[in-house]
Amino acid sequence: MSGTVTSPAPAVDLFAPVRSRIGAIVGLAAVGAAGTVVPLVAVVELARTLWPAVEGLPVDTGRVWAIVAVAAVALPASFAATWGSIMVGHLADARLQRDVRTRLLDLLGRLPLGWFGRRSSGSVKKTVENDVSALHHITGHAVHDLVVAVVVPVLSLVYLFATEWRMALACLVPLVLTIVLYAAMMAGSRDQLVRYDESVERLNSATVEFVHGIAVVKSFGQGRRRHAGYATETDRFLRFYRGWMGETATMQTLVEVVTAPAVVLAWLAGSGAWLVGTGTVAPVDVLPALVLGLGLTAPLLQLGYTGQSMRGALQARDSVVRFLQQPVQPQPDRPVQPVGSVVEYAGVSFGYDDTRRVLHDISLTCRPGTVTALVGPSGSGKSTLARLLPRFHDVDDGRISVGGADVRDVATAALYAEIGFVLQDAHVLRTTVRDNIRLTRPDADDEQVEQAAVAARIHDRILRLPRGYDSVIGADAHLSGGEQQRLTIARALVTDAPILVLDEATAALDPDSEAAVQDAVSALAVERSLLVIAHRLHTVTGADTILVLDGGRITERGTHDELLSACGTYRDLWVRQERVRERSPEPVVSGEPGAAGVNR
Ligand code: ATP
Repeated sequence: MSGTVTSPAPAVDLFAPVRSRIGAIVGLAAVGAAGTVVPLVAVVELARTLWPAVEGLPVDTGRVWAIVAVAAVALPASFAATWGSIMVGHLADARLQRDVRTRLLDLLGRLPLGWFGRRSSGSVKKTVENDVSALHHITGHAVHDLVVAVVVPVLSLVYLFATEWRMALACLVPLVLTIVLYAAMMAGSRDQLVRYDESVERLNSATVEFVHGIAVVKSFGQGRRRHAGYATETDRFLRFYRGWMGETATMQTLVEVVTAPAVVLAWLAGSGAWLVGTGTVAPVDVLPALVLGLGLTAPLLQLGYTGQSMRGALQARDSVVRFLQQPVQPQPDRPVQPVGSVVEYAGVSFGYDDTRRVLHDISLTCRPGTVTALVGPSGSGKSTLARLLPRFHDVDDGRISVGGADVRDVATAALYAEIGFVLQDAHVLRTTVRDNIRLTRPDADDEQVEQAAVAARIHDRILRLPRGYDSVIGADAHLSGGEQQRLTIARALVTDAPILVLDEATAALDPDSEAAVQDAVSALAVERSLLVIAHRLHTVTGADTILVLDGGRITERGTHDELLSACGTYRDLWVRQERVRERSPEPVVSGEPGAAGVNR
């Protein structure tokens, strides 16, 4: 294999594209927060400047107007800066979401195809949709709230200490108490939060299982029992939640009490009265604390209220980062173009993990115009063997080549152009029937699409749909499993791929359709290399080569007749299947033996 490079997991700094915007949010939020403190300071300063008038002394009117002017500028400036901060926050969020989604989609396109088989589409959707949306809280709100929660108390305290330090200390008491109580609450909650997440996950699974399995479960008369499982999980969650809320309620109430405006005001007024009574502080110097002290804890409370969203956002960020750090499939640095369509496996071994090898030392050749069939007991590795060809996974040992080029040296798009694939599970998209058929070859014209549909024996059924080829799957086109299978066969046929892999492609078809489709596929195999996985041996009796796979090794190879005379696994399987077929014979489609298979 010529030099391939292992693409390193991308350096994950989700917020890099919006770093300058985050800087702008911080700056604007700081100006906005300062702007809310300035008018309060102005009120206090105004009172202090006008105080001499109470004692009949002259007032510095110039200073009065200067204070009014500062307040008059600060207030609208504060509103404008706060608006700007929130606006930039949401613009940054939109940019971040677009960037992260693009990165995720790019990654999804570079992950090995086998990766998708191991993940549910639900878990991918959670990351691409829910987790990315949850990031909104960070750029859209948290940065702004955090700046306000720091700037407002700090500026207020600086002013308070500058005017009267004893009252400033009194103002610190509710602030420090709030921080201490919150810290204690969060420390106690750490374990509970983990248990909360586990409970929610168990409840979600129970709900999904209950809803998904309801039809099967009910049809077997187990509805009540499964419902009981869901109800038990709900009860468990509620019991835990009640207990947890009971524990935190006391602390939460204490925080509410300590920060309640009436309580803070009473505390500051009491402290001020005592200091004035002892002659330590002048009455006018109590005023700053009364005006500014009330607003010190509000930004912290705001942070506390949004703590759960913040936690969710941080978890979502970690989940997105982990997702982006997954190793992508290595790509060739100098891609090679296959010449011809000979498929060759040479000494291939593979395991899904390090503990167990699923395929051992597989060697085979599949030439254009020939059909190679893979048969063998369930779990012997047939699908795995076939899926290594389009690089669902990469081999551990040996080499797979297409047209003389190691598949790892062929660019992904070029490889997929060589190989048409029909899997056991038919995947159709919620789009028109026509677009479903030409999914892998969007430039195919209507005639080519219809030819493929005719060959796959699905054309007549499509014509009976409300809008024919323009019917949308899932909307006005509801196809059975077998019909969907034929649609994916048409999709494989419409591609020009010179290599076709059919993994139990006709398994979901009734015997008539199976025979018809296999006839069509056989006709198309004339110039293609065909690799067919089959459970039902009678469908591949005419294959040029039949490979018998057992325990991940090719134990026999030859034509149907050669393998029957070899009296090995193939013959045993054949005899067993024929006995079953004799007990429930399938309709005869053609008088020719083997005509109903991928037979030649
Ligand atoms: P069947 O005829 O039932 O479809 P098969 O012959 O095609 O079976 P494979 O599906 O290739 O067999 O499976 C071979 C072995 O690999 C089995 O033991 C299976 O459990 C294991 N296996 C298959 N897919 C995975 C996977 N994604 N991760 C881990 N092990 C897997």
